[in-house]
Order: sequence, then C-alpha cells, then structure tokens
Amino acid sequence: MKIKIIYKKAIIIALSCILIPVLCISACAGAVAGVAQAGGKSFFYGTVVVDAGHGGIDGGVVGSAGVKESDINLAMARLLKSRLEEANYRVVMTREDENALSNIKRIDMQMRKEIILSSSPLTVISLHVNRFSDSARRGVQVFYDDTEVGKDFAEAMQAHLNKTVNAKYGGRDDYEAIEGDLFITKCAPVPSIIIECGFISNAEDEKLLLDEAYRNELCSRIAELIAREHNPE
Ligand SMILES: [Zn+2]
Repeated sequence: MKIKIIYKKAIIIALSCILIPVLCISACAGAVAGVAQAGGKSFFYGTVVVDAGHGGIDGGVVGSAGVKESDINLAMARLLKSRLEEANYRVVMTREDENALSNIKRIDMQMRKEIILSSSPLTVISLHVNRFSDSARRGVQVFYDDTEVGKDFAEAMQAHLNKTVNAKYGGRDDYEAIEGDLFITKCAPVPSIIIECGFISNAEDEKLLLDEAYRNELCSRIAELIAREHNPE
C-alpha cells in the first residue's frame, strides 16, 4: 500500500532561478522520519518531498522551442515520485500541476516551506533546469545550502549522477556539488538538494530534457541514490 498525500489545490509556484555564477537555481527543503508500518502489510522508509521548481506565472527558463522549465520540472517530479513510491517511500509533492501555490513569489515559497515542514521528510529534492551563456555547457548538477546540512548527500548524488547520467550522455562527468544560499534547501534541517536536470541552453541537453527515456533514466538514478543514502535498513 502506498501512502500518498495530495495537495490538490496546492499549486505552488515558483521558486526562483537564482544565477549562481553559472546556474539557474531555486530552493526549499525538508524535515525528518523513519520506518513506519502501514496496516502491518506494507511499510515505507520515510517521506521524501519532491519539489517541482517554478509553476504558474513563473515558468523558469525557456527552451528554443518555447518549452517551459516549470513543465519539465513537473514531468520529472511525477516520474521521480513514481520511482520513489516503488522503492517504498512516501512522497509529498509541493505542486501537483502546472499552477503555482500563489502568484506572489514570496507567498509561494513560504507555502512550499510549510508543506515541507508539515511532511517531516527524510530529504527534499527540488528539480530544476539549467541555463548558461556558454551553450556548450551540459549535464546534471546538484546544489546544497550554505549551512552544509545537505553537503554529504549532495556530493553523493552528484558523484552518482556523474558516473551514470553525465558520463553516458557526453557531458562533463567531473561536476562537483555546489553550495549556495538557496531557500528551498533551508526549509527544514534535513538534507535538501536542488538537482538541475540539464542545460536548456545546450541543444543536446534540451532534446534530452524533452525525451521520455532520459527523464525516466535520470529519475531512476536519483531514486536509486536516495534509497542508498536514506534507507534505514
Ligand atoms: Zn529553475
């Protein structure tokens, strides 16, 4: 049995894309949990908050064909939710559709924080898409907050994604997790990271970001590492 919490109305919005020298980021983060029993039949290891960055009037970065980051983030978030539920995690999404939680960015971010705090998660994963002035730059990059709560987790995730996704798709495979002052990753005192799923400013990455097989593979790899790092067994 899978335990789900759906915040129907919650259409959150927006995180911001903060350019840290090179990247567009956003953020929010999470709280606590352990193993729990559900009816004595199935169990879950704990809660993961999956945050689809942006939403509503805040579309984030936009691709050459007009595809919005907010839509890519949501598609990725739904896939990651499925992969995590298959691995016996309870998943709370900050937004379930294309809308934001508020048209006012500050309120949207605060509402995301409240969802995170009320979910008592093991970890928080915020999904985004990157953009950079050098169109040659590509690959998946991981960010954590400057309090370093999520540093070890971010480094493990980056190393895993370097070895799997980044190496396979021809991008750099030597990225290091990057620290930043990121709202989403500071919402709760648990490892919280932002994953920039690829560079929309790179033609190959843009194609991948719209490709179902790539999306599935990336989300499977992310879920795999979460299960390795946040598994009480
Ligand atoms: Zn973004």
